[in-house]
Amino acid sequence: MINLIPDVGPLNVLCLGAHPDDVEIGCGGTLLELAARADTTVATALLTATPERRLEAETATPRFFPGASVTVLDLPDGRLPEYWGAAKQALEDLGHLHQPDLLFAPRIDDAHQDHRLIGQLASTVWRNALILHYEIPKWDADLKPPTHYVAVSEVNARRKVELLNSSFPSQVHRDWWDDELFLGLMRLRGIETRSRYAEGFFAAKVALSFNTQGGQP
Ligand SMILES: [Zn+2]
Repeated sequence: MINLIPDVGPLNVLCLGAHPDDVEIGCGGTLLELAARADTTVATALLTATPERRLEAETATPRFFPGASVTVLDLPDGRLPEYWGAAKQALEDLGHLHQPDLLFAPRIDDAHQDHRLIGQLASTVWRNALILHYEIPKWDADLKPPTHYVAVSEVNARRKVELLNSSFPSQVHRDWWDDELFLGLMRLRGIETRSRYAEGFFAAKVALSFNTQGGQP
């Protein structure tokens, strides 16, 4: 297995989530890894939130990636497919503001209808970004083997769990929310890619260039 390493140079990252905590659960370890990379910016956009959860989101993401911007919209939680047009427009509007190199979004086949819609719409708006769809463990049991992995150091894996617990107090009472779940999934993805911990992603389309003299058409 070889590692694919993006070019040295500026990397603009956009993270999409349906709800506060989606991004941090799905790719929080990767954000902590990216925080050590030079010339990297991170913006996060969430489509739904209650006032309480909006505050959590606005303070959480910059703790994972210092300087990250957070945009929180107010579409209805749990009902996004009914508001397809508004969700599409919201993403189109974000597309005018953000032209990321790397886009994180929920899986296109996530069992949660809000996640699934955002995941499916992402590639209709952003066609020049590498889109990596993150996974979110849930009661619906929709996990499947990832196509791509990002290794996460043990320090950052444990930091991710600490930050999830301290950043989202409105969610820690949920019966599925605990350290074992978050660390366990990262440990499982780690053994699948020969690292201690990792986060798994799904890519529908990846372009590779092996000609460093001019890979662009
Ligand atoms: Zn969610």
